[in-house]
Amino acid sequence: MVLGELGTALAGALKKLGEHTVVDEEIMEACLKEVTRALLQADVNVQYVKNIVKRVNINELAAGLNARKLLEKAVFTELVNMLEGEGAQNAQNEGVTTKREKYAPKKGVPNVVMFVGLQGCGKTTTCTKYAHHYQKKGFKPALVCADTFRAGAFDQLKQNATKARIPFYGSYTETDPAKIASDGVERFKAEKNDLIIVDTSGRHKQESALFEEMRAVAEAVNPDMTIFVMDSSIGQAASDQAAAFKNTVDVGSVVVTKLDGHAKGGGAISAVAATRAPIVFIGTGEHIDEFEAFDAKPFVSRLLG
Ligand code: GDP
Repeated sequence: MVLGELGTALAGALKKLGEHTVVDEEIMEACLKEVTRALLQADVNVQYVKNIVKRVNINELAAGLNARKLLEKAVFTELVNMLEGEGAQNAQNEGVTTKREKYAPKKGVPNVVMFVGLQGCGKTTTCTKYAHHYQKKGFKPALVCADTFRAGAFDQLKQNATKARIPFYGSYTETDPAKIASDGVERFKAEKNDLIIVDTSGRHKQESALFEEMRAVAEAVNPDMTIFVMDSSIGQAASDQAAAFKNTVDVGSVVVTKLDGHAKGGGAISAVAATRAPIVFIGTGEHIDEFEAFDAKPFVSRLLG
């Protein structure tokens, strides 16, 4: 997986620090500046960068014997905390930190999971990948296409679902996405599917029509989980976009797609901070198997080189 510029820049900043035999506060300060620059260039929201850096205690570090290791560890811990949804509230200056548990569907009960995101983020692809992932674990997934906005959306879902041998529901004639969503969910509940995935429509930008529709679908199906799908290449827009979705529906999980491309990686961190919802999976290619359960520690390890 290519983690892009953030990893290279952070590793560079930390390597420079390693070149000094004696590390004083000044050198540490300069190194932290580089870490800051790397995070900002990688599209981590400025507010969160300030927070990360603030929480790295320079005095404590400068007194240590191996300053590079200590700084590396401090940056590592802060990034992991941030990605796991911890520290997000601090970033918004609200004081208390809480960590949201990662959602996983439970066997034997009908889990309804709704996917939201802008058009082109990889939502439909991700729905099938998610279904396929849990099918391999013994779930009985089903896909509902509540996207009536994009021509061809139902055909795409149908094609993906057929290939993966997953039952699907949609309509060529019904124009109300909330009605399709609730009919589909009812059908699959009756058929004892235990993971019912609802794909909603996207738009090119954050428009009020999209948000109204999302709210209506959410009301119609009352999902156990709403997953926000974000294209990792959107850069600085990540934070605002994630917050806008979070303000409309109860986003409880994030999937970051296209991490196989030239994404800088920082957008993911900002999106998590904005939604206070952990990343559950990442997309690393167009193929159905190019989908990984997300684990913050190895992600950050690779980021730091
Ligand atoms: P939607 O409009 O959000 O439903 O997006 P689609 O699922 O149709 O995906 C848009 C494009 O992104 C398609 O060409 C997908 O194959 C591609 N795509 C989705 N996820 C990934 C990913 O993780 N990596 C790469 N490289 N492409 C992806």
